[in-house]
Amino acid sequence: MTRILLATRNQKKLVELRRILAAEGVTGVEVVGLADVPEFPEAPETGATFEENAVAKAADAAKATGLPTVADDSGIEVDALNGMPGVLSARWAGRHGDDQANLDLVLGQLADVPDERRGAAFVSAAALVLPDGTQTVVRGEWRGTVIREARGTNGFGYDPIFVPEGETRTSAELSPEEKDADSHRGRALRLLLPELRKLAD
Ligand code: IMP
Repeated sequence: MTRILLATRNQKKLVELRRILAAEGVTGVEVVGLADVPEFPEAPETGATFEENAVAKAADAAKATGLPTVADDSGIEVDALNGMPGVLSARWAGRHGDDQANLDLVLGQLADVPDERRGAAFVSAAALVLPDGTQTVVRGEWRGTVIREARGTNGFGYDPIFVPEGETRTSAELSPEEKDADSHRGRALRLLLPELRKLAD
């Protein structure tokens, strides 16, 4: 069994990667999280792009643990905000991880933006760094629109205000399986599958 580290403390992300690997028939790998390996200093995310942050996070963790490491960095790019919040999505309202304040701020900023200009995309960059330093980085995008009032209780972050293209429900109203099948992170992680399969062999 090859151990792969997913450089996150987010249990939902661990479950998601395990579910995707199982759904794609990748056996022979065990996905562990940061809580399962000895602690090491974690650098703040200071990159200008999702890709820079994902590679930095994966490279630090691979170096510290000696394990093949996957890391993702994600956020929402709102067209009417010129692509912001982008890499600042998690701290848009000024504090890290205050999901309600973040989505309330975006709703307020878009209050006067008409329906036809409310496009947005969830973006995820996923990086795989091997102990020998080899890097693979991919990007998944999920387009949709920002609605006017939050709906739904699944998911996290901006899910309650995002309706994916081709849907009438918000991504917080989709089941976890429905979300993985289309989401930015699902798409990015699936793009890493060829490399992950090699590790499983
Ligand atoms: P991180 O990649 O875990 O640092 O997430 C960055 C931020 O982007 C999160 O705090 C959320 O606000 C937002 N975000 C990323 N992915 C999603 C998603 O799937 N749904 C809703 N919000 C997301």
